[in-house]
Amino acid sequence: MNYQKIEKSIVSYEGSDLWLSKNQNGDRFLCSPGNPLGLTDQIEPGIFALSAHNAALMRKYFSWLNPQPLGLQTSAGTGDRLGLATTGHILAFEGSGIAPIFAQQSVRENVRTHRTPQQVMDDAMWGVFEMGWRLPWGADGDHLKNSEDIKSFVDAGYTFFTIDPGAFVCKADPKISNVQLIESLDDFNFESFQISLDSLLKSYNTQKLPVENINCSDHDVLIALIKYGKAILHVKEMFLDLSQRMGLKPFDFEVSVDETDWPTSVFEHYFIANEMKRLGIQWTSLAPRFVGRFEKGVDYIGDLSQFETEYKIHAAIQKYFGNYKISLHSGSDKFSIYRICATNSDYKIHLKTAGTSYLEALRVLALIEPKLFREIYDFSRKQYDTDKVSYHVSAEFSKMPIPDELSDDQLPVLLDNFQARQALHVCFGSVLDQFGKELLVMLKHNRDIYDKTIKNHFSRHLADFIQ
Ligand SMILES: [Zn+2]
Repeated sequence: MNYQKIEKSIVSYEGSDLWLSKNQNGDRFLCSPGNPLGLTDQIEPGIFALSAHNAALMRKYFSWLNPQPLGLQTSAGTGDRLGLATTGHILAFEGSGIAPIFAQQSVRENVRTHRTPQQVMDDAMWGVFEMGWRLPWGADGDHLKNSEDIKSFVDAGYTFFTIDPGAFVCKADPKISNVQLIESLDDFNFESFQISLDSLLKSYNTQKLPVENINCSDHDVLIALIKYGKAILHVKEMFLDLSQRMGLKPFDFEVSVDETDWPTSVFEHYFIANEMKRLGIQWTSLAPRFVGRFEKGVDYIGDLSQFETEYKIHAAIQKYFGNYKISLHSGSDKFSIYRICATNSDYKIHLKTAGTSYLEALRVLALIEPKLFREIYDFSRKQYDTDKVSYHVSAEFSKMPIPDELSDDQLPVLLDNFQARQALHVCFGSVLDQFGKELLVMLKHNRDIYDKTIKNHFSRHLADFIQ
């Protein structure tokens, strides 16, 4: 077989070179003629498979192949559902000064793509190796809900953990009286919350809150406690669990309440941060749910001036408590708000995108294999109503362009069509089950085009976050 050496990847260990090569199909291999690391899974002499075992050995000998905590640096998470996007992501990050999270997958995404945290990590790592990227990069276990979720990501060496306490966030009716609200707190564990209700109320109302434009009554505190109290307790439990598992190893800890049914009010943001701090939780980033709609794969929908006004208060709260970043979830394609967020938060921002690199893969497919793209689009369109559950989207089947009415030339444009884009975005799991193999074969054959397409798209995401 013919192997093409990827020059950027060459490294040396004890005088012996190792590098990545690809064959004519775009499959990659690890070449190590001297084999000083003791690689296994040999394909032919000196040529080894990119196996989990070999990935672990590479991490052991080359420290930059391990993810690291990124702290308060401006950062962006890429998400890569196909495991082939890291090289394109690196082209976009190069020279930006923004810290990347190359391995990032939620539990839900892993279920839908049948990948494990370790596979996601290894795929990102081979991309890092291929490109000769030497700067710190992170690995985010996204939307972790319980201790079991945490374990699998810790075991795979992740450094950034996003806790989603959404299942513990409760509804509270703002119209009911304080007495009724207090009654509904009957089962609340004040002991774990380490404060009595009286003391809690006093702590908010005996003094003016230290952030301008926020004030609160007992009623507001009760509502916030009902909505988020149990969630904060869950976050505390997860923080302790994680701290114990990680031992002395530092990690980034994110708290996300973005997948709730209502926006996080500025007082609720203050309350969550204040109570987490009181309970000793140390977090690197917090993802509130903002006003307006953060739908998948499309720009921000809502009143931009209202967003800006509220964001400024969120940023003031962030600055008051100091040490954390605001995390923008469902952050892909929200071009109209990036600058507002970056400048008001003094660039202490984490941008989280997940599916956008998958959509770029489909853009390449539409160009290269219109027939297969047409099938995938038609399939996604019909699958949309089933798969959209659990996502924030508003596209409607009846408004989606009909495949038979489009010429091949018009297909790539579907990636810029609101209706089609959302259908393609949320149906990735079903599509990969049905067409995943063919899609991967096409991408491997056209890696250069995929890299460039991702770079174009992702550079636009990063531009407003560059200081
Ligand atoms: Zn999220």
